[in-house]
This record gives sequence, structure tokens and C-alpha cells, in this order.
Amino acid sequence: MSQISKRGFSANLFRGAETIFKCPVCGERIRVVETRSIICPNHHTFDFAKQGYVNLVPHSVRSDYDRDLFEARRKIIADCGFFDPLIEKIVSLVGLQKNNGRDPFYLLDMGCGEGSHLSTICGQLRTGGSSDIRGIGIDLSKAGIHQAASEYSQEMWAVADLANPPLNDRTISVILNILSPSNYNVFDRLLKEDGMAIKVVPRSGYLHELRDFFFNDTEKRIYSNSDIIENFRLHFRAFQSFKIHYVKKLSHDAMQSLIRMTPLTWKAGEERRRQWMDGGSSEITIDLDLIAGRKKDIIH
Ligand SMILES: [Zn+2]
Repeated sequence: MSQISKRGFSANLFRGAETIFKCPVCGERIRVVETRSIICPNHHTFDFAKQGYVNLVPHSVRSDYDRDLFEARRKIIADCGFFDPLIEKIVSLVGLQKNNGRDPFYLLDMGCGEGSHLSTICGQLRTGGSSDIRGIGIDLSKAGIHQAASEYSQEMWAVADLANPPLNDRTISVILNILSPSNYNVFDRLLKEDGMAIKVVPRSGYLHELRDFFFNDTEKRIYSNSDIIENFRLHFRAFQSFKIHYVKKLSHDAMQSLIRMTPLTWKAGEERRRQWMDGGSSEITIDLDLIAGRKKDIIH
């Protein structure tokens, strides 16, 4: 797809979702003008990039995450299938939710990074017959969204403030929140009455081979996610929890990508990373909790 038609294709996706988004400056309704811009009645204007994403953050924000990290992340997720068992579980949960719901069905990834999770999940749902699924990926990182739009044209991608996303109340069927911080008040505002939140948090064994090698003794303390899970339970009903645990054997190239995408290895320095690549394990443990819940009943 050429870059010009990519922008046009993406503008059409957003045009179909004009009632879902709102102006990030004044909160008014938005509309898509030609294949170029999103505009509100107060003339706040946001142009589509040629890759097909839109930057809905009024003032640009610095991000620690760079293009190199996101390319490594894409390789690990999309090429190596590092998270495939997790993705499979999410697809089955969203599929069940979809059967219960009414259209249109919006699936929002809050903190989507370079978009591989959302794109893979939406792709599998479509293959399974859910042709009307509409994926929205938002992240504060422009580098992440830029790459998401460059790689994946079927979803809507926007740079946006996760604490105050430019989306209207009660419009989203399922919120995905994968290894990323949460704001449950925002989830509550965005979800439809029968909407569902799906969150993925690391367990103590997650990437433990890397932690054992790169962390010092103080940093090796046992990680517990119990506070995160308890907090989630307070905010949602019909709580479900699934333990996702497996070991993945990685090629040398895949291991290099994993090192590049994992912040805990960065401060160790180049020499220590080389030592790992020379002698470290090629088997890596994935140990995650997938937690899901529905919106609490509204008290009238
Ligand atoms: Zn506005």
C-alpha cells in the first residue's frame, strides 16, 4: 500500500469512528476532513501522518523509548511468536465477549507500543469470523505509534495521553492493557456498560533468566504482583484470572531482540550484554497473570 493511499485508508477507518473519538483540547466532537485531518468545531486540527496515524497529543512529549526498541519488540512478538500462548488466550476471551455484545465492537489497546499485540489479536479474530472488529491502539510514544502504523494498516493508531485519552465515554467493548500501567478510572469511563478489561501483569518467574543474570542481589528480590491484582479486583466484577506459564527457546537473533527490548538489561552495559549473548541461556521463561473483569454495576 503506498503511503498516500495508506493515509487515505486510515482516514476512512477514523471516519467510521468519528463518534468514538473527541477533541483532545476541548473535548468536542471531531470529524475527518477529506483524507487529511481530524478537526473539531473549535478548529483544533490534527493531521494524519503519511504512515496513517494521527498525533492527538496537543504538546509533544519526550519518550525514553526509541525506534530500535520498538523494532526489537515487533520481532519478538510478530516474528518469534514469543507471546503466542498469551495472544491465543486473549483472542478466546475477546471472542466470548464479542458473542455477548452488540455492534460496533471496539477493541482498545491502552499502551499499545508498536502495535504487534493489537494487530495480531484483531487479525486472528477476523480470521475467526469477526470481520467487524475495530482495533484502536493508543500510546504516548510517537516512535511506537509511527511503527505501528507503518507495519499494520487495518487498525486505528493514535499518539494519545493514556491518563486522559481523547475517546468518548462508554464507547469501548474491550480494553487491553498488556504489561503497561493502568488507570482504572479511565477504563471505567471508556468501557460500555457490558464492557470488559483485560490486563496482563508479570509473575515472579517472568524473564527470570535475564533477571538472574543482570540484576544484583538487592534487585533480585522476589517480585509480587498481588497488589496489582487486588487493586484490579476492587475496580471490576466477574473477576477471572489465568496463569500463563511456558518456556521459549530463542535463536541468537531473537535473544538479541529480547535484550534490546528489555529495559532491565540496559543499565548493565554493553560488556555485560555481550557476556550474556556469549554464554547465557537460550531458554526464557514467560510467566504472566492474565486478569479480566467486567465493569462494576452502575448505581442509579
Ligand atoms: Zn477542540
